[in-house]
Amino acid sequence: METTLQGVEGWGLSTRSLGHVARPQSMEEVAGAFALARERGWTVGLRGAGRSYGDASQNEGALVLDLQDVDRIHEWDPESGVARVDPGVTVRGLWERVVVDGWWPKVVSGTMTPTIGGAAAMNIHGKNAWKAGTIGDHIRSFRLLTPSGDDLLCSREENAALFHGAIGGFGELGVMHDITIANQFVGSGRVMEYPYALPHLDAMFDRFEQLTGEFDYCVGWIDAFATGKSLGRGQIHTARYLSAQEDPAGLNMRSPAHQRLPEVILGFPKKHLWRFVRPFAFPLGMRAINLAKVISGQILPGSSRPYLQSHAGFHFLLDFVPDWKLMHGRGGLIQWQPFVPADRAREVFRRVLTMQQERGMVNWLTVLKRHRPDPFLLTHGLDGWSLAQDFNVTPRNRQALWQLCHDMTEVVLEAGGRFYPAKDATLTASQYQRSLGQDRLSAFRALKQQVDPQGLLQTNLYRRLML
Ligand SMILES: Cc1cc2nc3c(=O)[nH]c(=O)nc-3n(C[C@H](O)[C@H](O)[C@H](O)COP(=O)(O)OP(=O)(O)OC[C@H]3O[C@@H](n4cnc5c(N)ncnc54)[C@H](O)[C@@H]3O)c2cc1C
Repeated sequence: METTLQGVEGWGLSTRSLGHVARPQSMEEVAGAFALARERGWTVGLRGAGRSYGDASQNEGALVLDLQDVDRIHEWDPESGVARVDPGVTVRGLWERVVVDGWWPKVVSGTMTPTIGGAAAMNIHGKNAWKAGTIGDHIRSFRLLTPSGDDLLCSREENAALFHGAIGGFGELGVMHDITIANQFVGSGRVMEYPYALPHLDAMFDRFEQLTGEFDYCVGWIDAFATGKSLGRGQIHTARYLSAQEDPAGLNMRSPAHQRLPEVILGFPKKHLWRFVRPFAFPLGMRAINLAKVISGQILPGSSRPYLQSHAGFHFLLDFVPDWKLMHGRGGLIQWQPFVPADRAREVFRRVLTMQQERGMVNWLTVLKRHRPDPFLLTHGLDGWSLAQDFNVTPRNRQALWQLCHDMTEVVLEAGGRFYPAKDATLTASQYQRSLGQDRLSAFRALKQQVDPQGLLQTNLYRRLML
């Protein structure tokens, strides 16, 4: 198999390393890649679409196995809503296939570009995390191709420990493939979306808690620049499914063509839109943009009225402006997303927002979600809340920013919080161990010893957090 030595980046562009990249076309070639790596003395790092923000799918100086071309949908049953797919099928590939029969993936990320293999390996969550859990909760089974050469069927009944370890196990136990996944029946091709503007953090939490009882999806946006009584002010967007009776016109929208995001926005091709935000990509500019969003949510006519929205339009807001990360400039961005138990979340989020204001490194985009626990070994899920935050990285602020994240992480750990490797770039091994507890890590290491005794599978993330 051909390999190319090239720079491999995390999605946030703030972490890069050189790796020998190979793009196998089939699972047979994936198995061949393990042999090739052994021959050359390389470790193997798995990569999906490279949408993890940090170093999750980089493997410095060794093999990076890019699985995007192993991408067939093997089976789709519109009666049961269950699909069997290759690891390289994307979230987009899945919804485009199932939506025509009135189904939608149970859990999707804020972008439709991740692969199902990468999504399962990180155990992604969506805007319904408190209700539907993580993607792993809807995976029925998969096959795990291990470095020892076994191809094991894993499900809740068979090889259950590997099933619960590989989901969320960031590609360290084997290549997940032949993934069987259940979807959600949706009557209409649209949801009804409701916006709410809230004046401070307590109001955000109180309203969010109330809305989760009524809606299928719920997500909050916070203006991280607001201080004093307005600290934590923001907006909540909820949505609920519509039945075919409620929205007969929405039946026709169950097609990829009707779900497609617009190519041109305000008269400009969307691929160039990030260039318009670039001049505002500095702290004062971002303060102004966050403020403009707050004001528009409060005073624009119709800003508090519910409206019909396509499923894709509701879920993949971030795909409306492709490559928006480029506005962050040369240093890129990191995301820092703590998960905090429900009884400590308000206090911890208030504290970390204040810390970043005090140190003059306020994050530019803050997203609030509600979560529930899940049964997976390396889980970020808990009965609590997460606050995803995008920090701009520059050569000048890099060291101070890592220190800020380190210090905020200590606040989260003291409250019993957790972190999500897909969104991480700064956690240390000792912090990761404290977040998950020694028992979980020991159990994971035992599984790794069973299927990968020589430690063939490795990424930069694995070495940073677990070695
Ligand atoms: C704009 C944006 C919005 C996002 N929104 C969300 C969100 O709302 N919720 C959320 O949970 N996440 C979100 N994410 C993160 C993203 O969903 C995860 O990082 C996901 O894992 C990316 O999948 P990928 O295919 O790009 O995998 P990669 O990032 O390439 O790899 C992820 C991990 O999976 C491993 N891996 C890849 N394929 C396999 C396989 N077949 N078998 C075993 N291991 C494998 C890799 O080694 C790596 O450790 C977002 C990312 C972006 C860029």
